[in-house]
Amino acid sequence: MFGFAGKIVRVNLTNGSVKEEVFDQAMARNQIGGRGIGAKILFTELAPGVDPLGPENKLVFTGGLLTATTVPGNTRWFVMGKSPLTGVYGESTCSGSFGKELKRAGYDALIIEGASDHPVFLWIKDGKVEIRDAGEIWGKETAETEDAIKAELGDNRAWIACIGPAGEKLVKIAAIISDKHRAAARTGMATVMGSKKLKAIAVRGTGKISIAHPDRVKVFTGEYVKEREVDPGCINFTKYGTSGGVPVLQNQGILPTKGWQRGTFEGFDKISGQALAQSYLTKTLHCEGCNVPHDRQVDVKETPYGPIRGEYGGAEYETVSGYGSLLLIDDLLAINAANQYSNAMGIDTLSASNIVAWVIECYEKGILSKEDLGGLEPKWGDPNTLHSVLGMVANREGLGDLLAEGLRTASQKIGKGSEDFAVHVRGLEAAMHEPRGKKGTMLIYTAAGPRGAAHMEAAQDPAFERPNAVPELGIVNPVSRFVVDEKGWIIKRAADLRTLVNALGMCTFMMEPAFNRSTVTRMIEIINHVTGWETTVEEMIQTAERANNLARAFTVREGSDRRGDTLPKRFQDPLPEGASAGYSISQEEMDKMLDDFYVEAGWTRQGVPGKAKLESLGLAYVVEELERNGYRTTESFGCCG
Ligand code: SF4
Repeated sequence: MFGFAGKIVRVNLTNGSVKEEVFDQAMARNQIGGRGIGAKILFTELAPGVDPLGPENKLVFTGGLLTATTVPGNTRWFVMGKSPLTGVYGESTCSGSFGKELKRAGYDALIIEGASDHPVFLWIKDGKVEIRDAGEIWGKETAETEDAIKAELGDNRAWIACIGPAGEKLVKIAAIISDKHRAAARTGMATVMGSKKLKAIAVRGTGKISIAHPDRVKVFTGEYVKEREVDPGCINFTKYGTSGGVPVLQNQGILPTKGWQRGTFEGFDKISGQALAQSYLTKTLHCEGCNVPHDRQVDVKETPYGPIRGEYGGAEYETVSGYGSLLLIDDLLAINAANQYSNAMGIDTLSASNIVAWVIECYEKGILSKEDLGGLEPKWGDPNTLHSVLGMVANREGLGDLLAEGLRTASQKIGKGSEDFAVHVRGLEAAMHEPRGKKGTMLIYTAAGPRGAAHMEAAQDPAFERPNAVPELGIVNPVSRFVVDEKGWIIKRAADLRTLVNALGMCTFMMEPAFNRSTVTRMIEIINHVTGWETTVEEMIQTAERANNLARAFTVREGSDRRGDTLPKRFQDPLPEGASAGYSISQEEMDKMLDDFYVEAGWTRQGVPGKAKLESLGLAYVVEELERNGYRTTESFGCCG
């Protein structure tokens, strides 16, 4: 088979068994990679209501179709399981070489089942899987863990994905850290690893993936590399990283600021990628085979917050905004010290930043006291507040034990109106993207993604303000970021497109058509060159739609249908100043966008995937399963009747 390794490996940590399964041509074409593989396994193999931290939960690691080819940017890998943070479908994605090494080692996917009764790590090398004792490294921070495993294996090129002390302590916002500075952070997949006593996975593969038309792939790769070299977006990205976008968001009035109370920050130009490039940027880093080195590295021996070690990378946009503007902190060293701590302990900086903002506002409003916080008096703009709350959460100290359960649980327990400014969807704290000034983001945080307030489910509104954004999917006319009409169908198509980019294992910065980095037509070309298929845009988008419906069905089956498709109250407050001043998101606007999205998706009014749509995707078994669990799939409206 071309383009795939052709096998999946299943490791059971309870009994130590390792089983290989065939991943054949039909499965490959039906699922491709990423969510396509993971959502199918989770939906069909996990019983509804399973304990996310029990041995019955499973973790699925995958790359994608172009993973381990020569196309630059084939670096995305995925980990999926039931989320202990949200209780619904969980998924995290990361860049780097984990997916490549896994595929070169002979596997399109790795499934982890059961739970060990003592700390272990996995060593996967060219088709051989070993479960090794991790007693010596349990308790270590992530960089030390990676070094210790490489030393034990005597292989410096092994790729490591590991958890830190936060994951071990079952902090529900724990992140898997890879290459010391890359995080698969969202939805607590590291917490699931912790519950299985799985400290790390080390992978190394030296095999090659067979390609149907190597000459055509070579030409495609050559052209792609050259185009990226002169692409103005990629050039900016190389200079300033993702936080080079901070001034743009500031100008648009949608830079998340002061716990989502504002959309502009006076100190924006002190935390931007441009400011970093002129101050503490030590060097730029890139994934294997990528010619757009956008990763930052900050290495400063002496700072008021102790040394900042380059191996932990440097803060990217999400962290810069979360630990910066969201908390009114304009000190890049404080932000990067917190970034380092988060990577070392293994926690999600997005979830953590929302938690810190919520704690400050609770204190301001008299909902939490100094005594509740172990003597801390939290303040906006205060690095000590950030570093102290992070420490409490990562170690489950004091109130940190409750905060480590996530913002939904913490705000429900504390109450007193604090739920109104607890910014999460389905229990997943929001990414640093403001839905009031780019309205389609509301859908990205709700219906378009099965996880909650994650931003990587689709390109956002500004991408569709230019003409001919994605002509193959009918997205031709520019639509303002403030408009609600039309966002339902646009975001639905953009979400399927993103799932396809992901299923290829491609970095969005390198292949997302909505960012003008490719076209859907070219994506189909390279799929055909690699696999020898003669596939079409329609077939591949339908494959992505199948994956999205499976993931949505998982979330619905866990009880989160339309009722979960809602934003926190904070977004009903208008933004007070800047270019998006006066904009909010009302219930009517949310209802309108959801109704439109559901019609486009072929879902019921309750947000349940519809029978006709599911059957058209070859998912009749999902219809039966949803109906068996009390979710009606035939109360559809619009296209699926
Ligand atoms: S753009 Fe950045 S994340 Fe994407 S492949 Fe290149 S270095 Fe990796």
